[in-house]
Amino acid sequence: MNRVNKFVAALVLMPVLALNNMLSAQTNQSMENKVNTIFNQLTLEQKIGQMTQIASTNGDEVPKYVIDAIKEGRVGSILNAGTPKAIEKIQKIVAKESPNKIPLIIGRDVIHGYKTIFPIPLGQAASWNRKLVETGANIAGKEAYDEGINWTFAPMIDISRDPRWGRIAESLGEDPYLTAELGAAMVVGFQGNELSSEKGRIAACAKHFIGYGATENGKDYNAVSIPDYQLWNTYLPPFKAALDAGVGTFMTAFNDINGIPASANQFLLKEVLRDKWNFDGFVVSDWESMSQMINQGYSENLRDVALQSASAQLDMEMVSSAYQKHLKELIESGEIDIEVVNTAVKNILSVKVALGLFEQEYNGVPKNTEILSATHKAEAKKMAIESLVLLKNENALPLKIKDQKIGIVGPLADAPAEQVGTWSLDAVIDEVETPLNAFQEAFGDQIVFAQGLENARSNNTDQIQATVDSMKGVKDVIVFAGEDAILSGEGHSRAFIHLPGAQEALIDALAEAGKNIILVVQAGRPLTLGTIEDKVKAILYAWHPGTMGGPAILDVITGKVTPSGKLPVTFPRTLGQVPIYYSSIESGRPANPQMLGIPTGTPLDPVGLTNNYLDVSVTPAYAFGYGLSYTSFSISKPKFSNTELVKGERITVTVEVKNTGKYEGAEVVQLYIHDKVASYMRPKLELKGFEKVYLAPGESKKVTFEIGDDQLSFFDKNGNVLLEKGKFEIFVGNASDNLASEIITLKNIK
Ligand code: BGC
Repeated sequence: MNRVNKFVAALVLMPVLALNNMLSAQTNQSMENKVNTIFNQLTLEQKIGQMTQIASTNGDEVPKYVIDAIKEGRVGSILNAGTPKAIEKIQKIVAKESPNKIPLIIGRDVIHGYKTIFPIPLGQAASWNRKLVETGANIAGKEAYDEGINWTFAPMIDISRDPRWGRIAESLGEDPYLTAELGAAMVVGFQGNELSSEKGRIAACAKHFIGYGATENGKDYNAVSIPDYQLWNTYLPPFKAALDAGVGTFMTAFNDINGIPASANQFLLKEVLRDKWNFDGFVVSDWESMSQMINQGYSENLRDVALQSASAQLDMEMVSSAYQKHLKELIESGEIDIEVVNTAVKNILSVKVALGLFEQEYNGVPKNTEILSATHKAEAKKMAIESLVLLKNENALPLKIKDQKIGIVGPLADAPAEQVGTWSLDAVIDEVETPLNAFQEAFGDQIVFAQGLENARSNNTDQIQATVDSMKGVKDVIVFAGEDAILSGEGHSRAFIHLPGAQEALIDALAEAGKNIILVVQAGRPLTLGTIEDKVKAILYAWHPGTMGGPAILDVITGKVTPSGKLPVTFPRTLGQVPIYYSSIESGRPANPQMLGIPTGTPLDPVGLTNNYLDVSVTPAYAFGYGLSYTSFSISKPKFSNTELVKGERITVTVEVKNTGKYEGAEVVQLYIHDKVASYMRPKLELKGFEKVYLAPGESKKVTFEIGDDQLSFFDKNGNVLLEKGKFEIFVGNASDNLASEIITLKNIK
């Protein structure tokens, strides 16, 4: 639009905008009035009740302790409230027998699907597809809403750089930008553009605030040390993005950050979240993360816990009972100002009001028609397809299946409960379509199946020989190996991250028998595959792909769809390389990636003293952003609208992506930057943009990225934005280890 048009448009739009602003101001005003009206009716005990979340039990029944708590106004939220029938009972008791009739906010971990299970979040992140991620959250939220749930404890946006940590499965990977983009997409998927009473919308929760993924040595619930500088640049940005996307709630983490538990961290909860970011929703603790501060040696007793968490303005306590037992006396003694409680209660009530919980006259849990519908499954399949990452392909895929026999082998070929992965509390296992189901349906008798091992962790090799024998006359064998669902997720860290049990022995035996092996790995984390890679022709990384994993894998293996996933996390060659992530800082003695090992008799020579290992390359097994396709793409040399800019200006970088191969496919064009010289050393590479482009053979498209203050600035250790003049290298390509670059200069900053 030129300037005149813009002016005219502004005039025309003005009344509409003004009206919108007025309406939204009125809505805010009326919401605030509503909150105040409810708030003014509450006694101190009832206020503390609002700040309390209790866990119920699964099933149709509502336990007596839950009923009593509701009747006595001692609870504001329930998690794991049971079946829709139980939730109906709860609602009825609230409406008829609770002192203030304040609806409970019913929370549950709806993490990657409710009943229709989508790939684990780490798998979803491999799609690099914002829209699909949003749709996945939207469907999960709708299904949960239809069973009376109005709050999910997702997205989990902890930066995760240690594959030993089981909860990496639930994360969106190692990168702040990718996590921020996809985490925000999840928030919008659950909530819409803001918290609202719209049907099917539930509140999201940005968790775990903060640093949980940085847990020392990958053990869950371990200590966390994060330098302030890194906190601002790496760990906080996804949370800020969730906040900007309108997330209604935050959850604290179990861990400490530099010695102060997240659930009592005044700096993070007050200075950052409230004062700097103006968050006006509410903060919930994690499951007993408050009372656990006693074990952590931070609080002497529950009274201390209540004092410390309330002082940090932690609004709602999950499961433990420090607030219930001690908040009143702390207020009476003057140790906690009543305004702390008032603020917490208003924060909680405002989320309940915004969700329209008060408007929902008691009329039971909505009756669903859509749970596990064909549409939901189709979306889950789309997401599963885009989450698959092709790591290796020696002309083995797509597999052309005519009338030959195809071997399906492995403990995860037909393991529906494993396929859904961690945090699938409500998965309907009977609805899960496994790879074996899908291949048998498509190819009937051509499929020769042998499980090979009792399960993925079994060390019993008894069935291996029989499995190899059963593959007589079969050339192409698809091996489904990996991790059981329980090997990742909360509390499930591993000190070895290779294929568990005798799976490698199974692959070895098939390789020795001369089979063309296509390895499909289902796992909750990057695994180190070691020499297995040399024994197989292709590797398709499937994470835990969810309800529709089987058909998705079938379509990709047979070439109906081209794989387009890209790694959201670096794959180490060996555990000794961990932590390994692409955006590390350059050493003063950069490693020579070609240098491998050290010959005997080599003299101690400073020339050879570089940032490397003696026994393994410094490069990863597979780089962040990497993933193969069946087709090929060319990405033109980046064109810059200008190679110089000043603060406040933006320049564009454009590339043309062309599908130069034979298959329809999608490429993820990735933009990285490197700030050459800065007042704090900056990462070698930082992802700052990406675009997934779908192209027919021969087709090409232009992809344009903008570069300006947002991309070129970073934070100092106090969270101040620094935008420093100088040279920046700008990279574009299709993986963090396959990029072309050019230098630009940021000038004229005072
Ligand atoms: C987890 C949270 C989860 C909560 C409620 C905790 O153990 O850390 O992520 O939301 O339980 O189930």
